[in-house]
Amino acid sequence: MKVVVATRNRGKLRELVPLLSEAGLGLELVTIDDLAPQAELREDGDTFDANAFAKARQAAAATGLPALADDSGLEVDALGGAPGVYSARYAGPGADDARNNAKLLAALRASPAPRTARYRCVAAYVDPARGLEMARAGSCEGEILADPRGDGGFGYDPLFLVPALGRTMAELPLEQKNRLSHRAAAFRALADALRGALFSAG
Ligand code: IMP
Repeated sequence: MKVVVATRNRGKLRELVPLLSEAGLGLELVTIDDLAPQAELREDGDTFDANAFAKARQAAAATGLPALADDSGLEVDALGGAPGVYSARYAGPGADDARNNAKLLAALRASPAPRTARYRCVAAYVDPARGLEMARAGSCEGEILADPRGDGGFGYDPLFLVPALGRTMAELPLEQKNRLSHRAAAFRALADALRGALFSAG
């Protein structure tokens, strides 16, 4: 079954392709840029759930295919859960990872410990032809370092320490990030739910 992946984030795509192929659902993945490069993927909701569904619905409408999307972000306890759903544009519209990370470090310099944080992800699947919409959530606990380490991953990964490993997400090989990340947890749960739904639908 052909499914469109509703993201233009290359870091996410690099993680999603092996995650979904390991799930063994036999999905043929195409990206929104392969099929409908002009399609808008607006995300103006104020929850991960709303934004994940919004992106999947827009991609399904633009391509006529079932669609998968995720919405994700970083919640820092000392910042009251910020940047949260605004993680991608924390330092302003169109901000890149470097500017977002610099803003995060500046905000934390002005704020006392703790530096505990978590990544959250909601993975959504929308299949208008079958009238099917489902979503699952995943999270991953960590701490924000004062200085970046590692050059893997994307986004806030160089600042996000996985305490049990003593390494940042950006210091982990992709296979290891894909065993413990918020995105892996959300997409594995979604794949399980999808397997049940597709199987019971015959
Ligand atoms: P969105 O889901 O496209 O709105 O963007 C999520 C944003 O959250 C990314 O641009 C990153 O800033 C951050 N983020 C989400 N997941 C990760 C991750 O696995 N590593 C690092 N940053 C992430």
